[in-house]
Amino acid sequence: MKQTSILVTGGAGYIGSHVVLQLRERGERVVVLDDLSRGFPQAVLDAPLVTGHVADSATVSALLREYQVDTVMHFAAFTIVPESVRDPLKYYRNNTCATAALLECCLAAGVRYFVLSSTAAVYGIPASGVAAEDTPTAPINPYGTSKLMAEWVLASVAQASALKFATLRYFNVAGSDRAGRIGQATPNATLLVKVACEVAAGKRAELEIFGTDYPTPDGTGVRDYIHVEDLASAHLDALTWLRRGGDSITLNIGYGHGYSVREVLASVERVSGRKVKVRESPRRPGDPPTLIASADRIRSQLQWRPQVDDLDTIVRSAWNWEQRLLREPW
Ligand code: UDP
Repeated sequence: MKQTSILVTGGAGYIGSHVVLQLRERGERVVVLDDLSRGFPQAVLDAPLVTGHVADSATVSALLREYQVDTVMHFAAFTIVPESVRDPLKYYRNNTCATAALLECCLAAGVRYFVLSSTAAVYGIPASGVAAEDTPTAPINPYGTSKLMAEWVLASVAQASALKFATLRYFNVAGSDRAGRIGQATPNATLLVKVACEVAAGKRAELEIFGTDYPTPDGTGVRDYIHVEDLASAHLDALTWLRRGGDSITLNIGYGHGYSVREVLASVERVSGRKVKVRESPRRPGDPPTLIASADRIRSQLQWRPQVDDLDTIVRSAWNWEQRLLREPW
């Protein structure tokens, strides 16, 4: 019998590429589908890459058949909140409708397992600043809503079929492969650690701190930053869970503790030995003061054991990658 494969959509992007790397290190057979609108072909290293869109059902169906795909890990999505506010239909089309189209192909091809990349943005602004999986979902922007709708579509489809799923809600992903093979290369990045490293590297003049009057210890926003390798390993653990016959699950992925913007900037300065010039700006609309994962379920259910829960280590991997990009732009 031909070996089955894992289809990784968006596998040429920041998070998807780190998952592809770990899957291949574990000896899994992988095929990547990416339209390269935001991804980089070199991010998949030597994994097979098909350039196309997940909503292109003819391409997807042919791929599922050709590679005997029994698992789909679905990362292909747009993720920029202000862009989703300006152009909501772009997000509903790409994040929600395309997921539905992909699922139709999966059902037709008899795919068994589906791992969905979701987000803490589905929680909106939880009153306590801590979100557990059963915290009511209340997204406050089209990005969060588009992902929550994708979650619902997936859950309904699974209820009506034999498909099993794991929905993983990411908190603040940061850092890069510690071996320096791949990393985040997104142009005009907005994520704090990446932007701070770009400032330290001299690619940007300064970093705006969005809000210094939050009810937090130093007045700046607090987030649960998780290293991309730990995030990636959670996907492998979720797959193991499903393959062992586990029920469909929805899990937060975070460390369960947070750092303020100023703490992150202090780490970037420590690690890089450079000053990060800042400008204090007003709060960004829709930013919660604090957002931390209640992250016990993934540890107890999947036996997930993070390896990189240390802010300076996370930042060092991002800083090393930023320096490589300076020498060798992607
Ligand atoms: N942030 C900031 N300046 C930036 C980018 C982010 O002050 O240039 C803050 C932001 O207000 C939040 C935290 O850093 O408190 C993390 O923001 P990011 O955009 O990385 O992720 P989010 O939590 O919005 O998903």
